[in-house]
Amino acid sequence: MNSTEVAIIKSNSPSEAITDGIEKLGGISGFVEKGDQVFVKINLRTPGGFPVNTNFDTIKTIINLCKEAEAKKIFVGSYPFNRLKTDLIAKTLGIQSYIEKLGAEFVFLDDQNKYPLKSVEINGKTIEFPKVILESDRLILLNQVSVDPLFKCTISLLNTYSLVSNQFQKIQKNVRSGKDYLHLDQYKQDLITNILDIFSVKKPSLVINDLFYFLEGAGPFIYKDSNLKRTNLIVVGNDAVAVDLITLRLFEIDLLNSDIIVEARNRRLGITDIPNIKLIGENLEDIRLSVDFCVSKLEDINIKNTHVKAGRICSGCFKEAYHLLNLMKTHMTKDLKYIIKQSFLIGEKPPKPESLENIILFGDCAIESTENREFRNIIITNSKDYFETAKKKLKKDSKAQDKPQIKEKVNKKIVELPGCPPSRFDCLNSLISYYGKSQVPNLFFFNNLIKTYYNQETDKKTK
Ligand code: SF4
Repeated sequence: MNSTEVAIIKSNSPSEAITDGIEKLGGISGFVEKGDQVFVKINLRTPGGFPVNTNFDTIKTIINLCKEAEAKKIFVGSYPFNRLKTDLIAKTLGIQSYIEKLGAEFVFLDDQNKYPLKSVEINGKTIEFPKVILESDRLILLNQVSVDPLFKCTISLLNTYSLVSNQFQKIQKNVRSGKDYLHLDQYKQDLITNILDIFSVKKPSLVINDLFYFLEGAGPFIYKDSNLKRTNLIVVGNDAVAVDLITLRLFEIDLLNSDIIVEARNRRLGITDIPNIKLIGENLEDIRLSVDFCVSKLEDINIKNTHVKAGRICSGCFKEAYHLLNLMKTHMTKDLKYIIKQSFLIGEKPPKPESLENIILFGDCAIESTENREFRNIIITNSKDYFETAKKKLKKDSKAQDKPQIKEKVNKKIVELPGCPPSRFDCLNSLISYYGKSQVPNLFFFNNLIKTYYNQETDKKTK
């Protein structure tokens, strides 16, 4: 394709905006044909509801439009975030019955008996793809846009990543000879390659970037520093790269400031020349969305009694630490009042901690590069018998001038959070073990809540 159409629609409700956008692009029959099997890929990250996940109203609108086009079968689904089970999210959100009542099927992608996988070879890698997606005639990306710490916004290309399970999303550290892993941010480059590999397996026929409600500040999960904004906008088209490019332009982010779009252009995965994109609806030049994006420096996450000190890091640690620090800020409000002081050291050769107490070392780089640093040991001066010393001084006993004995001991007020990068949820367990549950009751409660998610004990009430 040398050209494509993208609609920018402003409306009073997300449903109206989607219907209007598809109408302006020629109607749903241009995207879904009679008798098609359709897979609607949504955001289904955690049991956190909207806007962490896709807005239920927009899901309903898309299902109704597919039915109007006389689709034979409509599947809706996504892999959830990091080892979470679809079943848990479905139960918490009530999404299965909601979708079934609309005449579509909610897909539990992690149930491989019902939805088997098929191996796909991409760039020398074997990735297991759900057959139900591969065999669908149409793939629709219904994507909720919010801020993202690595890519500025959760654009539709990122949404395609959860077409496969977390196992195939993991980035292993692969240091190329003669290349500086951290300086080149090889983690992010490998992540982008992986995302685009998965995107290239099954190109969508319809892409909707729903930014009608937009989570700004901290995100894309709901944190203390998050704020929901209303833009009244959606962007629709059939070329995901073009739709993402235009979406980013609404926030005044151009092609060269989005490394994933640049790489998509290099791989010719979509149209990135604006003159070749026919814009419909609102005038792109008239819209300037001003929002607060995620911080670009971890030190800017302001947490009570916490000093963040970063050395050289890559995007792997940045992303996990960004979420961990925001989790701590959101769920340790009261705990942090009593911790008095903690230092969070991250990356290769981080600056020295604020004090010798409560030093958190995040990630393998921070742990390994500080092995011989001063703060690893503490100096103890042996306590003298002051009464004796005073007596000797009065007698002008020369021994009273003895130098105090100095001993060096291993500093045990350090908690190491290993991993490359560490998993934010494993870190919570380590922090609780270090501080003790009585010192961090908020965090202990939150961690127990998360454990119920992973253990599927949805019916068991957390005390
Ligand atoms: S430990 Fe962190 S900063 Fe170091 S290479 Fe791994 S992910 Fe990057």
